[in-house]
Amino acid sequence: MTEHDDRPPSRFDVDRQALGTLLAGEPRYRVDQVWQGLYEQLAEPHELTTLPKALRARLDDALPLALREELRRVSDRGDTIKYLWQLHDGHRIETVLMLYPDRVTACVSSQAGCAMDCSFCATGQAGFQRHLTTGEIVEQVVRAAREARRLGRRLGNVVFMGMGEPLVNEAAVWAAIERIHGDLGLSARHLTVSTIGIVPGIRALAARPLPVNLAVSLHAANDRLRETLVPMNKRYPLSQLMEACAHYLAVKGRRISFEWALIAGVNDRDSDARELAALSKRFRLAAHVNLIPLNPTPGFPTIGSSPTRVHEFRDLLEQLGVNATVRRNRGTDIDAACGQLAAGQPVAMRPSRRRAGESDAATDGVRAPGTSDSPR
Ligand code: SAH
Repeated sequence: MTEHDDRPPSRFDVDRQALGTLLAGEPRYRVDQVWQGLYEQLAEPHELTTLPKALRARLDDALPLALREELRRVSDRGDTIKYLWQLHDGHRIETVLMLYPDRVTACVSSQAGCAMDCSFCATGQAGFQRHLTTGEIVEQVVRAAREARRLGRRLGNVVFMGMGEPLVNEAAVWAAIERIHGDLGLSARHLTVSTIGIVPGIRALAARPLPVNLAVSLHAANDRLRETLVPMNKRYPLSQLMEACAHYLAVKGRRISFEWALIAGVNDRDSDARELAALSKRFRLAAHVNLIPLNPTPGFPTIGSSPTRVHEFRDLLEQLGVNATVRRNRGTDIDAACGQLAAGQPVAMRPSRRRAGESDAATDGVRAPGTSDSPR
């Protein structure tokens, strides 16, 4: 890509004002018509039959999509659909659509790649490419919502748990949240930002007006261990991180989720549960721990805890007074863990098959997110 890029901004990077400029010379109500068409009807410009034909054709060209579908994988039962998108500059990102009996959730990326370098994460292992724009984030949600509608369902939840660290791209993420909330009409309580623990980002999010959910990828409850898993802990150690979480809770009144990928022999010991209980004690029932066995990635030699150990760990946390849920696993059979498709899994335009010996409870990196389990 050259620096002087004369491509028009992508469809969902265009704000109302820019759309007004694009529609100069047309009756004023066209802006609302097009905006509602894109965000409420989830329509393509050429589907907007209220517009004159020539205008529809012009808008199809003037409002290009940002994401080209490179690969789609569907889990065996069809309840998890994972997309690998190619951006205009060749970078790849992932989106996962998860269909549950009672809700539909999209897991979206906020960056191409990730600079956080968490040892166990496939995205981190591949490095950072760039921030996503607001439009690239919003488009992931719109395209997931269209797919859900095609399947007779309504997308109601969005979690920023795909590739990237949303709170180092906070401005674009926040603008996307406003669009998802204000224009696509999703409730702020059904939107979740997941962070590795970027303290200034948590404080920035706390200062924003909507009460979105905060999930913190904790994985360890002492600094020494956490530094080995999450290098950013050196910059924002647990004491600072917990202060920021307490502040978020105080300002928003929303329960906070702690994400914990269970790694056999590393962070699934009884002592880890006790440390976690001590750390989360100040939040009482306002903190909720989501447990998920580590999904194996090529660059990390350790394996996820066994299903038995996962449940023992959960029981111990419960005994210690900590709210904890074992997450149902999604998409193991389609490499739905964070970064796995973009990391160069064999590309094939077909649903992949479940590998022998894998079960729902075994491993997974795409979480059944905490949003709809949060108090309303
Ligand atoms: N950077 C943000 C958003 C990414 S969310 C964050 O870290 O919260 C991706 C989630 O999947 C994080 O909780 C991350 O810790 C977790 N994750 C990454 N690799 C994983 C793996 N191999 N197995 C299980 N969970 C993993």
